[in-house]
Amino acid sequence: MIATTEALVRFTGVQKTYDGEHLVVKSLDLDIRKGEFLTLLGPSGSGKTTTLMMLAGFEVPTHGDIFIGDRPIKNVPPHKRDIGMVFQNYALFPHLTIEENVAFPLTVRGVPKTQVKERVANALDMIKLGNLAGRRPGQLSGGQQQRVALARALVFNPALVLMDEPLGALDKRLREHMQLEIKRLHETMGLTVVYVTHDQGEALTMSDRIAVFNDGIVQQIDRPDALYERPVNSFVANFIGENNVLGGVVENIEQAWARVALDAGGTVM
Ligand code: ADP
Repeated sequence: MIATTEALVRFTGVQKTYDGEHLVVKSLDLDIRKGEFLTLLGPSGSGKTTTLMMLAGFEVPTHGDIFIGDRPIKNVPPHKRDIGMVFQNYALFPHLTIEENVAFPLTVRGVPKTQVKERVANALDMIKLGNLAGRRPGQLSGGQQQRVALARALVFNPALVLMDEPLGALDKRLREHMQLEIKRLHETMGLTVVYVTHDQGEALTMSDRIAVFNDGIVQQIDRPDALYERPVNSFVANFIGENNVLGGVVENIEQAWARVALDAGGTVM
């Protein structure tokens, strides 16, 4: 699906304070557009995961509201939010088989058993792991486990998928492969994805838009090329420029894309 400008999710004046004193998300007004791949990018501790956790329902905003469509979700528990999640450490249940892991979101949503088997088989086929259905997570490689986590997040056809540093535990080659896999799923399934990373190169290759976080504030939200060409302040310019895959300088966007494509074996462009 092509990203639209229609907002699927809206944060209005959202703040989050931990322990009554640590203000870690300062004032967040953010629209997440239907069908887009939005990346939350920023240094460690800047509030990205907290933002994701509030959207998922595992943390509650101290102030402000989050809407999905027109509906405020304050009182909606996580498993009723129609949101799939993928974490860095996969978070698979070690005592369950792959098939049972992927079935879990359907089971908790009360999907009839007769449908569960077929939907799990489809989800495992989608990530080409159907032949491992009977194994347990400990018998799989890191890359395979992360694909199972993806299947589990997608099996109930959620409106929205949140991914928190999902590739952080994988080596470079596998990470690049999985980036393409995630992009393929985003495009073919018409997903709306919110993706957290501190890796500028990853954000650049994958995103329709990037929200640059620093110290609990979104400094700029824009298309990748606009962030490069028109950073709104020195933080964005430095963060995008100094630490990026381009080796420490802000290059123009054509050079940036060419370099990233080359690094990824020419498969990105
Ligand atoms: P990021 O994802 O950008 O690394 P986080 O949202 O994880 O940032 O963290 C932002 C700040 O909030 C950090 O200083 C972190 O230590 C703090 N923090 C995160 N979770 C909690 C928590 N459950 N209790 C108290 N402080 C927390």
